[in-house]
Amino acid sequence: MTRERFTTVGRVEDQGTRTRWTIPVTASSSSYRVTVGPGVLGDLATLLADSAPAHRYAVIADDRVFDLHGAALMRALSGVVRPPPVHTFPAGERNKNREQWSRLTDLLLADGLGRDACLIALGGGVAGDLAGFVASTYMRGIPVVQVPTTLVAMVDASVGGKTGVDVPLGKNLVGAFHPPAFVLADTDLSVTLSREERAQGLAEAVKHGAVLDADYFQDIETDAGALMDGDPEATAVMVARSVELKAGVVSRDERESGRRQILNFGHTLGHALEAASGLRLPHGSAVALGMVLEAALGERLGITEAGVAARLTGILGRLGLPTRIPDRDSLNVDDVVALTTRDKKARSGAVRYVLLSRIGEVAQADDDWSTRVEEGVVRDLLREATAG
Ligand code: NAD
Repeated sequence: MTRERFTTVGRVEDQGTRTRWTIPVTASSSSYRVTVGPGVLGDLATLLADSAPAHRYAVIADDRVFDLHGAALMRALSGVVRPPPVHTFPAGERNKNREQWSRLTDLLLADGLGRDACLIALGGGVAGDLAGFVASTYMRGIPVVQVPTTLVAMVDASVGGKTGVDVPLGKNLVGAFHPPAFVLADTDLSVTLSREERAQGLAEAVKHGAVLDADYFQDIETDAGALMDGDPEATAVMVARSVELKAGVVSRDERESGRRQILNFGHTLGHALEAASGLRLPHGSAVALGMVLEAALGERLGITEAGVAARLTGILGRLGLPTRIPDRDSLNVDDVVALTTRDKKARSGAVRYVLLSRIGEVAQADDDWSTRVEEGVVRDLLREATAG
């Protein structure tokens, strides 16, 4: 992957042999910067003083991440006047819930943190969403700084300002838009991720290439092996380019009323398959399947260029992500179709899909970034995908 790709939004600063990117996100409610690169955690104290000055800070992290990277975070905070309290919660999606929101909020109140405090979220998307939601409601809203540690959180969850918790009726159903004061994505922190966890984040990076940038998509195809092996240079460039692409979209459409929908490519069927599996299918894997199926759907409708589904199948397979529906015998197609009607792009009962025209470009229909698709076409596609 070449650095020359970064000409649109991001800024490259060479510091000796290390490279970092500072990418602006300009949202209507606030603007902030995402700093990406190996070792950028060392800048935390300076960035806090510049972009998130506060009377006091507190850290929220999941316990697994704090065991792995808490010491590095605390070292980076040693320049901050008062040592911050640290509150951890047990790692895992099932703890992104109202009970943890309530517990963490009470702990901050017991710390005596006031409205002039700031939270530091250390961890994957779960820690970022949960701590972000705590920050959005604590004393009617205090700043949060996102320090993502998974590739999912670096390329996706930490950018865009969505925070929230899961409830018994579904994922992310209670939450708030609460953009961070800044995001610090130190790609060195990703070295402790397993290959499976890396692949989950790479699914979203593939999506960014598929909807916005054919050259970037091709770069991921070229670098797939290095990205899975955790090569530091390939990882840093990938995270920076994905953030740059996502930032370009959310800057213009923070609340998902228009073009931001394109980031939902693969997510209509992906979310339905994730829900149908009882959340056993991880999100990135579900999106990988969703992208292959929605590309096949577009090809069937004559909207997507022939061969796109096969190309997605190729790269996602090399990243160790599923491209064929697992447990096909036990999957009820009617249940999956019913679950698609819960999609947030559904309007007046009709489900809309983000469809590609080709790799790097989303098809527009009636001035909209999503296309209405008849239920019968989706049902036929799923029947074939689950047969044999
Ligand atoms: P996660 O936060 O649960 O992290 C996955 C696992 O990796 C956890 O066990 C965690 O402890 C561990 N981990 C984290 N960093 C590590 C590291 N550096 N080394 C080793 N292990 C590490 O899950 P995730 O995949 O990061 O994020 C998924 C969550 O993000 C979901 O809740 C999803 O809804 C949310 N999300 C939010 C947005 C958004 O826009 N807000 C976007 C995408 C996903």
